[in-house]
Amino acid sequence: MTELRPNIKDFEPAALRERLKQEGLPGYRADQIVGWLYARGVEDWEEMTDLGQDLRRTLADMFETRALELETVQHSIDGTSKGTLRARDGAVLEAVVIPEEDRTTLCVSTQVGCPLACSFCATGAMGLTRNLTTGEILDQFIRMREALPEGRSITNLVFMGMGEPLLNLPNVIPAVRTLVDPKAFGIAPRRVTVSTSGVVPRIAELLEEVPVNLAVSLHAATDEVRDVLVPLNKKFPLSELLGALRKLPRLSRRHPIFFEYTLMEGVNDSVADARRLLKILAGIPAKLNVIPMNAHPDAPYRPPSAEVASRFMGVLVRGGMVSTLRRARGSDIDAACGQLALREAHDQLSRKAEIGDPTEAPTKPAA
Ligand code: SAH
Ligand code: SF4
Repeated sequence: MTELRPNIKDFEPAALRERLKQEGLPGYRADQIVGWLYARGVEDWEEMTDLGQDLRRTLADMFETRALELETVQHSIDGTSKGTLRARDGAVLEAVVIPEEDRTTLCVSTQVGCPLACSFCATGAMGLTRNLTTGEILDQFIRMREALPEGRSITNLVFMGMGEPLLNLPNVIPAVRTLVDPKAFGIAPRRVTVSTSGVVPRIAELLEEVPVNLAVSLHAATDEVRDVLVPLNKKFPLSELLGALRKLPRLSRRHPIFFEYTLMEGVNDSVADARRLLKILAGIPAKLNVIPMNAHPDAPYRPPSAEVASRFMGVLVRGGMVSTLRRARGSDIDAACGQLALREAHDQLSRKAEIGDPTEAPTKPAA
């Protein structure tokens, strides 16, 4: 196997400065390179005209610049687009762009698959292939930016694609630092949100390193239900998760925690569930995003009726919770939350299900 050169995008700006210093190069060179790579999206060393020919050659010998290639882009009737991207080792992943009136949000993946096996999530049914590198996280931004129509730019970023970001912090943190660096992508930290299903010991670590918004995938107000939906809850139950969140510094109404709650018919959509939710979240500055389940073949759940969803929302709103019922975006192209799984993997899974492979079947809930 030929040895791959390191990818330059795996170095956050400060680390690149250090690396170049070892080569006897001054810090401003790193700033120039960062500007070309991220602000301008140039990856061909020959186009970095202020670097000088010798330096361009040296750098080309030292570093790769591209981590991902865009394979296909699918467009939803609601404007959402999903990119399928291929890494150098052949791994395939997905990223989604969601245009809205006042913003354009990019949803990035942090792992190929996910090891946490939430029973309602298509990515979870794939298992984990591997963590994404920093360069692969950043290239989702660059490749999807290149595919945007003229005049649109990505304004917001959510780490809500495939995978659990908090199980890949050594690559996620440098990616966030590059995203918010004014010389690189220059995205305001308040426009970056990292979502976790509740890897409790890593939450404080993330927020100490980077000032992003935190989203927590809650989905249930009791351990009994959450154990089935999010198996990680058996390791870090609600009391531990919410206890750790209450201890976070800098929480306020202006800096709340965003909770995600996927509404599933007959599972977590009752008035009693909504009341319990108000009770367990009392005292935590919170915003609750309620998302009707996006149905897919790997999960036995459905969204509730509109009446049941609005009854649930009514209890929350009357209880003083800031909550929104989100409509699904991009579900016609399998781009909505929890639908990201590669078509190939899907087909393999359903074939296995047909021939009844018990070891590979996704965990089905008892209820
Ligand atoms: N692993 C992280 C980041 C992925 S975010 C996490 O779980 O938070 C993806 C979001 O979509 C999570 O809130 C997840 O719980 C939710 N989700 C997963 N499957 C879904 C589905 N089928 N319908 C609606 N939301 C889903
Ligand atoms: Fe992983 Fe998040 Fe899907 Fe759970 S919901 S399996 S943590 S990607």
